[in-house]
Amino acid sequence: MKSRFAPSPTGYLHIGGARTALFAWAYAKKQQGNFVLRIENTDRERSTQASVDAILDGMNWLGLDYDEGPFYQTQRFERYQAVIRQLLNEDKAYYCECSKKRLEDLREVLMAKGEKAMYDGCCRDKNLTSGVVRFKNPQEGVVIFEDKVKGKISIANKELDDLIIARTDGTPTYNLTVVVDDHDMEISHVIRGDDHINNTPRQINLYEALNWALPKFAHLPMILGSDGARLSKRHGAVSVMAYRDAGFLPEALLNYLVRLGWSHGDQEVFCLDEIVSLFDLKDINKAPASFNEEKLLWLNQEYIKKSTPEHLIKNLQWHLNEQSFNTSNGPDLPLVVNALQARSKTLVEMVEGMKMYYQDFDKFDKKLADKQFKDTAPLAALLEELMQLDIWEAEAIKSCIKQVCDDLGIGFGKVGQPFRLALSGNGNAGNIDAVAELIGKSITLKRLEKAIQYVG
Ligand SMILES: [Zn+2]
Repeated sequence: MKSRFAPSPTGYLHIGGARTALFAWAYAKKQQGNFVLRIENTDRERSTQASVDAILDGMNWLGLDYDEGPFYQTQRFERYQAVIRQLLNEDKAYYCECSKKRLEDLREVLMAKGEKAMYDGCCRDKNLTSGVVRFKNPQEGVVIFEDKVKGKISIANKELDDLIIARTDGTPTYNLTVVVDDHDMEISHVIRGDDHINNTPRQINLYEALNWALPKFAHLPMILGSDGARLSKRHGAVSVMAYRDAGFLPEALLNYLVRLGWSHGDQEVFCLDEIVSLFDLKDINKAPASFNEEKLLWLNQEYIKKSTPEHLIKNLQWHLNEQSFNTSNGPDLPLVVNALQARSKTLVEMVEGMKMYYQDFDKFDKKLADKQFKDTAPLAALLEELMQLDIWEAEAIKSCIKQVCDDLGIGFGKVGQPFRLALSGNGNAGNIDAVAELIGKSITLKRLEKAIQYVG
C-alpha cells in the first residue's frame, strides 16, 4: 500500500494541504505502507524554490515524514514525453492546431446555446503533426468509480472532451503527469482534496488507455472558513508556518487538522499514535468541515498543559531565537516553563510571561500602577518582612504577605496585587509567592523598592 502527497510549490503549505498530507500519511502508517512526497512543479512560471522550501519546512515542522521522495516532476520530463509519444503512436492521442480564436468562438457558441463549453474534436481525424496534443477520450460509455469518501461516482464520456496532454512546446499538462507519476510510483491510494474530483474521470480514461491498474481514490471534503466560504487568505492565517509563528504546538495543529473531516466517536484529543491506530478512510465525512480558530486555541492550551517542560522548551527555542531572548541569567528555564504552562494558550503568550523572569522592565503599566502603588505602606511593610527572610521559598514568602495583612488589618489582595504588579510590571503573573521564589530574593527586593519609589 502506498499513498502520496503531491503539492504544487506556488506558495506556502496551506492548512488544507497539510490536512490532505496528514490523512494520506496517517492512512499509510495505519496500513504499514509507504508515504510519498512529490512536488508537482511542472508549472515553471508559478513554481519557486522558496515555495518548495516552505512545503518541506511545513512537513518537517508537523513531523509528517515521508518514506519516498521528495520527487520533482521537472526531473521526469523525458518519461512524460515517452508516454505522450506512446499515446500518439497507438492512435490514442492526436495533434490539434486549433487557434485560440477558433476555440474561443466555439466556446461562445456553446455557451450561448446553454451548453457546456467543450472542445469539439475538430482535429481528431486530421492526422496533424504539430500543435498541442490531445487525448482521445472515449466517445461512448460511462466512467464509474467508487470513491472511498464520496461513494459511487459516474460520468458519461460524452460529457468529457479531448483533454490537452501536451502544450505546443511539448511540456506535459497536469492530468497527464499526475497519472504517469501515480502509476510509476505505484501509488495504490490517491488521497486528495475534492477540488480534484472533476479531473478523476479523465485520469481514469488515461489509465485505461495506457492499460495501467487503477489506484483507489479518496477525495477529501473541503475546509470552510467561519463564513461558510472555502478557507482562504481572507480568513486570516492559512499557512502552516504562520501557526508555528503564532505559538502553536505541531501536535495540537495535527490533532486539530485530523478532526477536520474525520471523526472517531466524540473524541477530540488524539495523540499521534492514536491518530495512526484509529485512522480509517471510511470515517471521513462527506460534508465540508469548518475551520474553528477557537477550538484550535483550546486544543493548543490542552497540549501545553500536559506537555513536559522539556518538550515545551524544544518548541519554544524558535521563538526565543527570533526574539534573541536570553534565558541564561535567571531561574532554571524548566521551572519557569512549568510555572507558566497552566496559563498559556500559546507559546507566544508563554514567552511574554517569561520576560519578567529574565528581563528588567523600564516602567509599570501606568493605569494599574497609579491605582495600586498609591498607598506604599503595604509594599514597604512587605519589603521589611522579605528582607529578613533567610529561606527564600514560596511558603515563607506567603507567610510574610499574611503577616503584613495582619499587621495592617487589610485583605490579601491589598498586598498581593501591588506585589504582583511590582514583580511583573503588567500584573500578569501567576501565584505571586511562587513567582517571587523563582525570580529570587535580590531581584524581588529591587523591584519592590522601585515600586515604592513609583511616582504616578
Ligand atoms: Zn483542433
